Amino acid sequence: MDVNLVLRSTRVITPEETRPASIAVSGGTIAAVLPYDAEVPAGARLEDVGDDVVLPGLVDTHVHVNDPGRTEWEGFWTATRAAAAGGITTLLDMPLNSIPPTTTVENLRVKQDVARAKAHIDVGFWGGALPDNVKDLRPLHDAGVYGFKCFLSPSGVDEFPSLDQEQLANSLAEIAGFDGLMIVHAEDPHHLAAAPQKSGLAYADFLASRPRDAENTAIENLVNQARRLGARVHVLHLSSSDALPLIAAAKAEGVKITVESCPHFLTLTAEEVPDGATEFKCCPPIREASNQDALWQGLADGVIDCIVSDHSPSTADLKTPDFASAWGGISSLQLGLPAIWTEAKRRGHSLEDVVRWMSEAPARLAGLSRKGAIEAGRDADFAVIDPDATFTVDPAELQHRNRITAYAGKTLSGVVASTWLRGERIVDHGTLAEPSGRLLERNN
Ligand SMILES: [Zn+2]
Repeated sequence: MDVNLVLRSTRVITPEETRPASIAVSGGTIAAVLPYDAEVPAGARLEDVGDDVVLPGLVDTHVHVNDPGRTEWEGFWTATRAAAAGGITTLLDMPLNSIPPTTTVENLRVKQDVARAKAHIDVGFWGGALPDNVKDLRPLHDAGVYGFKCFLSPSGVDEFPSLDQEQLANSLAEIAGFDGLMIVHAEDPHHLAAAPQKSGLAYADFLASRPRDAENTAIENLVNQARRLGARVHVLHLSSSDALPLIAAAKAEGVKITVESCPHFLTLTAEEVPDGATEFKCCPPIREASNQDALWQGLADGVIDCIVSDHSPSTADLKTPDFASAWGGISSLQLGLPAIWTEAKRRGHSLEDVVRWMSEAPARLAGLSRKGAIEAGRDADFAVIDPDATFTVDPAELQHRNRITAYAGKTLSGVVASTWLRGERIVDHGTLAEPSGRLLERNN
C-alpha cells in the first residue's frame, strides 16, 4: 500500500486510547496508526501537528441545508464551509425546508445535483416520511438515503405535513420491512394544542407553549409503536429530560431506539434568554438549567447516544422579536464542537467523550462505517484542534450564510487548526480549500 501522507501528533484519539501516534494515509484511507516515531515511508509527506489533538472528523447527522428552494436561508456551499471550519467532515441533510423536500427519488436526485459541486465535506441525505408517500420509502432506501424523518406535529413548512399515529404505524411497518431507520421529531400535537399560546417578547411564554409533556407523550407513543412493529427508531433533538427514564427502560427491554440531543440544549438555558432574542428559539425549546443537568447525566449514562447540531437557519427578517411567530431554528454548525467541549470540560467529561458523542455515535447511527474513528480502513478524515485555546464568538467570522447565532459573545474552548477530508487538508487555520466533498449513499 503506497502511503502518501503521515499525520503525526503527540495526542491522537483512537477508539482505544489517546496516544502519541503517526497516522499513515494511503489514497484517502487510513492505512495504519503507527508508533509516534515510526519511520516515514519513502515518497510520503510528513505533517507534524505537534501537541494539537487529532480527532476523527465529526459527523453531524442533523443539518438543514435548505438547498435548493430556500438557499437564502443556507445552502450547500455555505453549510459545508461552516461545517468544515468547525471540524465536521460528514453531514447528513434533513429532508425538509428545501424545495423540493427529499420525499421521492426524483427529488433526491434534484438535491444531489445541487449539492455535488458545492460540497466542501462529504454529504448524505435523509428521506422524508409523509402521509402520502409510503410507496416512495423503499425506492428512496434503495437509492441511498440513510433513513426517514417524520414529524408528529406541524413541521413549520406546508410541503412537509406531519403523521398521525395511524400514518406513523403505516410508515414504520413499511420501513421495518427493509430494516430501515425512522428518525422522529417527537412532540405530541394534542399536548401542543392544549398548551397556552401567548405571543410576545417573553421567553417564558414561548417555553410554556412547548411543554415537556408534549415530548414525553410523543416519545412514549413512539416506543410503543417501535416495540409493536419491531422498527428501528431514533428520537431527534431530545430536550425534555423527563423522557430519559422511559427511554432507558425501552432500551433495557430491547426496543430498537436511539436518541440525540443538541449543543443548544446542553450549553444554553431558558434562564439566560433575553426578551425578544429569537435566535434562541427552536422546537422543542431550550429548557431550564436543571433540565440541562439531567440531559448531561443522560449522556453520561449512555441513554442519550449522540450530539448533533440541528443547524436550522433562516434569514434575519424571519427572526422577528415575537417568540410565537419567529422562525424556530438555531444556527450552530460551525460552533458545536467548541460549545460542547467547553461545557463538557466544565462538567468533568473528557475530549474522548466528546469524540464518542459527536463522531463515533452519529456515524454508527447512520451506518457510516468508513467514518467516526481513527483506525485502519476508515476514511482519513480528521479535525486537528488546540483544546485549550479559547476564542470569543464573533458572528462576522462565521461561514454560515446568515450570521445569526445564539452563541454571539460567548468565550469557548477548542480552536480548530485544520480539518482533513480523505487525506487532504480542507481547512488550514481558517482558510478553506476548493470543494472536494463527495455525495454519500447508504452502503457506498
Ligand atoms: Zn431539525
